[in-house]
Amino acid sequence: MFQENAGSIRNMEWLRTIFGIRERKKHGLPSPVFLTNTLSGKKELFISQRPGIVLFYSCGPTVYGPALIGNLRAYVFSDTIARVLQCAGYRVQRVINITDVGHMVGDNDVGEDKMSVGAKREKATPEEIADRYTKLFIEDLEDLHIHTEDIQFPRATAYIKEQIALAKTLEEKGIAYRLSDGLYFDTQKFPNYGKLGGLSGVKLEAGARVKVVQGKRHPADFVLWRVAKPNDLQQWDSPWGRGNPGWHIECSAMIRSLLGQEIDIHSGGEDLIATHHNNEIAQSEAISGRTFVHYWMHNAFLTMGGEKISKSLGNGFSLSDVVSKRFHPLSVRYFFLQAHYRTPLSFSWEALAGAESALDRLWKISRNVAGESRRKGAHSEVRERFLASMRDDLATPQALGILWDSLKSEDYTPEEKWGLIEDADTHLGLSLVNTPPVDALKEEDIPIQIRDLLMRRETARAHKDFKTADRIRDEIEKSGYHVDDGPFGAVLTRTTF
Ligand code: AMP
Ligand code: ZN
Repeated sequence: MFQENAGSIRNMEWLRTIFGIRERKKHGLPSPVFLTNTLSGKKELFISQRPGIVLFYSCGPTVYGPALIGNLRAYVFSDTIARVLQCAGYRVQRVINITDVGHMVGDNDVGEDKMSVGAKREKATPEEIADRYTKLFIEDLEDLHIHTEDIQFPRATAYIKEQIALAKTLEEKGIAYRLSDGLYFDTQKFPNYGKLGGLSGVKLEAGARVKVVQGKRHPADFVLWRVAKPNDLQQWDSPWGRGNPGWHIECSAMIRSLLGQEIDIHSGGEDLIATHHNNEIAQSEAISGRTFVHYWMHNAFLTMGGEKISKSLGNGFSLSDVVSKRFHPLSVRYFFLQAHYRTPLSFSWEALAGAESALDRLWKISRNVAGESRRKGAHSEVRERFLASMRDDLATPQALGILWDSLKSEDYTPEEKWGLIEDADTHLGLSLVNTPPVDALKEEDIPIQIRDLLMRRETARAHKDFKTADRIRDEIEKSGYHVDDGPFGAVLTRTTF
């Protein structure tokens, strides 16, 4: 049996591509998917460590306020990676952590803890704040059609013991040192520190923390355990005194506990590359001596007026803000998918309105095709092209272009179009197969011949003649209407506009 062995063929770029595709087909392995790996800076053929299984971790939100739509771009992105891999035949095991301790306002060990900022603002405990915003975050993901039931959402405060254990191992190995205010990782003891994004050497020095903690051996060294200040709201016992964990160690600990020492994919926004992800690599690889993550993937920012949208800058909107302006949450998803994940995307209400009207048109076309094809999909060359673009580093703008061109074209049968809609639905999550309900029609708006068909169908159903009832339903659907049997009788909606 062909075994996927990433290590042995990793260096043979061209051979790997050819060998991979041919062998995969022969052995019924998942279809080839190409992803841009921040580690190499190149688009690579994805090869999982274990055949058919993907271990996938995404850095989660710091739950001290509602997620802003900038954050949500990161999760639509990771959901798209998961959908593409699942559709290609992989089983994807997913974790998104919930940061409910240890993340400082300055992102770099300085400033106040974000959870305590949230707790003071809302006169609540950090636990209450974490509960409130974790629930809201998961609801936001569901509104965006992200399959939350397939994802584990561990909280950093539930893994304090594991974080202390990792920090202790690093200290025992001589890679961490104590200062009066905590335990620090010694970046100079980790060869290749800063390899992600090519930040070693001069660039690393230049980009390192501005405000240097007294006694740190190198500006890039980072805290693993922080000794508590008297008024710190969250503190636990540890070998270094009461305190709380540094931000980066939580991801290393939860990944190790839930997915193992070596995972396939790790994702996050591009702001995490320089510090957070390089620090995760350093901590994890210094302990295991193994490759921590094989494919690092990062999304570019959602911006507004040229600036990153972020909670700490306070310049963004939440999904509830978007919905309160009467936008459908999926218009946000469509808006994100119009741009490639590696391209910065500028938000404006006009642009969102444009996305919403495009999605609305797509839903109307899908309803028409559903009626014309009777929801029977046929294979076609256009489905192959759609899949190829999604598997080519999630080329969503191209995939949407293929979808639009084919649905507008007369070259495809309704069945071929429906087949494409089914594939587009599983890859893009835009509710194209089960479009949101349109308002039921008032009786006086229904043309007389449709009313007649409806009555004949009701009579057939009353006589339990379901064959005739189904035939009449097809006739109704072909005329551009959709009939649903609700608890109070048949409900008619229009599918053509
Ligand atoms: P945070 O809650 O700030 O820890 O961020 C959660 C996730 O959202 C991380 O993966 C960030 O990199 C990502 N992120 C934050 N702001 C933006 C933005 N404006 N555009 C895209 N991704 C973002
Ligand atoms: Zn992380």
